[in-house]
Amino acid sequence: MAEFPWLRRYDPEVPRHLDYPSTDLYSLMAQSAAKVPRKIALSFLGKELTFRQLFSLAEELAGGLAARGVEPGHRVALLMPNCPQFVISYLAVLRLGATAMLMNPLNVERELIFKFQDSGAKAVIALDLLSQRVSNVRKQIDLDLVVYTGLQDFLPFPKNLLYPIKRALDKSLPKPLIGRDKATWSFKGLLALKAQAPQVQIDPESMAALIYSGGTTGISKGIMLSHRALIANLTQAHAWVNMDQDDSLLAVLPLFHGFGMSVCMNAPLAQGGTVTLLPRFEAGEVLKTIDKARPSIFAGVPTMFIALKESPEIDKCDLKSLRGIFVGAAPLPQAVQQEFEKRTGAQLIEGYGLTEAVTAISCNPLRGPKKPGTIGIPFPDVEWRIMDLDTGTKEMPTGEAGEIVLRGPDLMTGYLNQPELTARTIRDGWLFTGDIGVMDADGFITIVDRKKDLVIVSGFNVFPSEIDEVLHQHPAVAEAVAVGLPHPTKGEFIKAFVVLKKGQSATPEEIKAFCKENLSAYMVPREVEIRAELPKSMIGKVLRRSLREEEEAKWATQ
Ligand code: AMP
Repeated sequence: MAEFPWLRRYDPEVPRHLDYPSTDLYSLMAQSAAKVPRKIALSFLGKELTFRQLFSLAEELAGGLAARGVEPGHRVALLMPNCPQFVISYLAVLRLGATAMLMNPLNVERELIFKFQDSGAKAVIALDLLSQRVSNVRKQIDLDLVVYTGLQDFLPFPKNLLYPIKRALDKSLPKPLIGRDKATWSFKGLLALKAQAPQVQIDPESMAALIYSGGTTGISKGIMLSHRALIANLTQAHAWVNMDQDDSLLAVLPLFHGFGMSVCMNAPLAQGGTVTLLPRFEAGEVLKTIDKARPSIFAGVPTMFIALKESPEIDKCDLKSLRGIFVGAAPLPQAVQQEFEKRTGAQLIEGYGLTEAVTAISCNPLRGPKKPGTIGIPFPDVEWRIMDLDTGTKEMPTGEAGEIVLRGPDLMTGYLNQPELTARTIRDGWLFTGDIGVMDADGFITIVDRKKDLVIVSGFNVFPSEIDEVLHQHPAVAEAVAVGLPHPTKGEFIKAFVVLKKGQSATPEEIKAFCKENLSAYMVPREVEIRAELPKSMIGKVLRRSLREEEEAKWATQ
């Protein structure tokens, strides 16, 4: 095992190696819950569940699921936004030694059908608002158990907070489906069975979570994460952040994504910390919740911080309770970081990760010196290297760009049903991330771009995130993203999509002129389009690929 001299140097409080409990995730969490039974585990829109309440609900639901046929090794899909039922269901599935298949509630039928078929999942726990979609899926897929949970099942779930889901529905509100067939149950109905969950022996190597991700190749595939990997990741996050029972975390990132699952749910709950859940990101709502619930930790993605600093609420809310604000999942433009820090007085700590390694595996040191613009240094027991882009066999010298490869206890077991892709992605125990980075002499990495986003203009390598960085420095620009598009003679050219700050104006020509002053000529966008908003993933990442596809489709029809 490699040594980590920089870790000691930059944050002497974080040990280089950690002990990982050799158990399953549910047992680990239940043990910490038993130490703080009366503490608040979940807070949701002003209502609260203690650790005792949360874990007894999870036990009861596990009993109900087992009585309806769920066994160790089964895959159970969870289809709902952040709400207490999500956490209860997740814990119940883990309790039974089954696999929690985390699904985006905005997935359309085609995506759901693919994931059910690929995973062989026969059970789903879904928000009842999604029942229409689930019923349509059932016309093609046999499901043995469908559990619907209502908005008001536990804690009132204000309807206005559900608009992203409602928007995705075909306007039709669900019909009551419970009891229509033997396979369909209500959440409360399962709890009312009062069935005892069987004792099961869970192998730490078995699959705790299955998360579908576009990952390094863009095609949706199931990432298998073991109990061991999930426990490793949360143990490292604790060590890094020094998280304890007094911490409380605001969870606005979706829990069905690796970042939300590990950082916002597993890590705090396994430590006896409180999780304040919000079902969706709305800047004013988030700021008011921080002001009221006083969380000590918040995790988000860069687009959220852009929206937060632009919100009129920011001057009215006290954000001083926060001690750590983690940002990752996409590049954080430095201009955004500086402006947010100036506005709030809070520190933004940038980290990096990917679902193939559970989620975050690196971060800037909390107590030691940070290097803004970098993704920091790896968590304890995680090693990273920069390898050449062509063969992946030669380590690149300090300061030169190459593919980031990782080794450590957090790595996925593999891609479900994809042994060849797994073998290409994990070679000799090293995960090839598809991300391009540069390491400095202290071991800090700066992300340059994703391998597949690299644009080649007249033979020059252009990393679009460098252009994004410059666009963000323009005083009128709120959000920006550059994409490479095919060009008949130059190979590719750059087009930039820009959203302006409220009340500001700038023409495409002015933005181009600004780029000319700050970028080499071949990197200057040939076209700039001003838009009201940019397409984003559920977690809030700007979808560079979808803009590229949109443009290509436009040409195809011309
Ligand atoms: P996901 O599996 O959805 O979490 O996506 C992982 C990908 O997000 C990584 O492979 C990176 O391309 C990107 N990513 C994560 N963190 C960062 C970061 N701090 N800066 C730039 N890209 C990031």
